[in-house]
Amino acid sequence: MIKIYNTLSQEKEVFKSLEKNKLSMYVCGPTVYNYIHIGNARPIITFDVVRRYFEYIGYEVNFVSNFTDVDDKIIKAANEEAISTKELSDKYIAEFYKDYDALGCQRASSNPRVSDYIQEIIDFISKLISEDYAYEVKGDVYFRTRKKEDYGKLSKQSIDDLISGARIEASELKEDPLDFALWKAAKDGEVSWLSPWGQGRPGWHIECSVMAKESLGVTIDIHAGGQDLTFPHHENEIAQSECHNQATFANYWMHNGFINIDGTKMSKSLGNFTLVKDILTQVDPMVLRLFMLSVHYRTPINFSAESIELAKTNYAKLVIAYQNLNFRLSNEMPIPSMDNEVAEKVNTNLETLEKEMNDDFNTANVLSAWYELVKISNIYTEKDEVNKETLELIKAAFGVYSKILGISLEVKEEIKGDYARIEGLIAQREDARKNRDFTLADKIRDDLKAEGIILEDTKQGVRWKKE
Ligand SMILES: [Zn+2]
Repeated sequence: MIKIYNTLSQEKEVFKSLEKNKLSMYVCGPTVYNYIHIGNARPIITFDVVRRYFEYIGYEVNFVSNFTDVDDKIIKAANEEAISTKELSDKYIAEFYKDYDALGCQRASSNPRVSDYIQEIIDFISKLISEDYAYEVKGDVYFRTRKKEDYGKLSKQSIDDLISGARIEASELKEDPLDFALWKAAKDGEVSWLSPWGQGRPGWHIECSVMAKESLGVTIDIHAGGQDLTFPHHENEIAQSECHNQATFANYWMHNGFINIDGTKMSKSLGNFTLVKDILTQVDPMVLRLFMLSVHYRTPINFSAESIELAKTNYAKLVIAYQNLNFRLSNEMPIPSMDNEVAEKVNTNLETLEKEMNDDFNTANVLSAWYELVKISNIYTEKDEVNKETLELIKAAFGVYSKILGISLEVKEEIKGDYARIEGLIAQREDARKNRDFTLADKIRDDLKAEGIILEDTKQGVRWKKE
């Protein structure tokens, strides 16, 4: 039984999907006019883990996340780079996937682009106009906010408060300050499409209503995004969709908290980077992922040199424990029977993992449970005699954490070559010692130490780790 904090009710609710063992999920994606920054990485990683957990417990997940490729920022950036908006978006979508894959996220079931849904958007708006929920003024189309009586229900604001706070820009031709644009008349030099209201392009909010409906149907299980999208974006999505579809738009609304960037301190060690691609030149993607998951997704997180250092230490702890497990597994196993005490501890540990994930995806507590498993594992792998099945059971538990959190502990492809080289040097040193050539043996050891590789002679053979 999963409980999810629903922004709509502001309570943790027991999750029930529309269809048994199926989950439809829509996450607002980036505007593709630049490389993604650390703020984009938080929803990407958070909702990747949510999806992974649903898959782990047996759900078939239809995970949709859009690319906004029609937008003021895109038009401006395309003009600056002197290329078409299509070329600009293609470029940054390719860059998005590079960062996304590097962060260990599973590709979405689909990533619809606004420019591929212009006709569906026009049809959607036409229906809203015909039912009086929207109106056209000089080529612009606006949504009549007052027609949606519960407008403000997601962001918990009353329509009257919102109206008193809203202003009409001189250029806008709205009936009411809170009305928002569904379609914008084309300006000179802008990308545009022909519509019943003349040349123009869609406003921002309409795209998610249309693409969610086209990809997932009129009602979806979970709609998610950053907390900053609650108002006006998600509020407007609800208004358009519920007036158009006459059905609930999304049953659960999930929002991740902000990310604070500790600028001053960052500049010293991490170069004050905020783009994911730049951060990844300094930080292992798995460390960045662990950092993001070290705080509950609704809590603000502080991106600082210290927090990254801590994530690095914790990641190293996981990797070393995992390597020790593999090392002991590669040796002969003298004890034939399973250590029942350890087995019981591992099973209890995995129950804690599920309990914490079921409680609104508390990855901070899940990580603590994983560190507990590391302790169980370390105590066992340090024993003189170990049993194969017990080691395999612990290793499988590590695998469960890895799978759900998307944190891989395996040796990365790009350093596999390096591992082979190090193992080779260790074998040479063993030969040298057998031949009593201690000068050579010590030299190999010292050379490796200079590279930050520490050798440890154990009863089971030589173990090594990176400093
Ligand atoms: Zn959206």
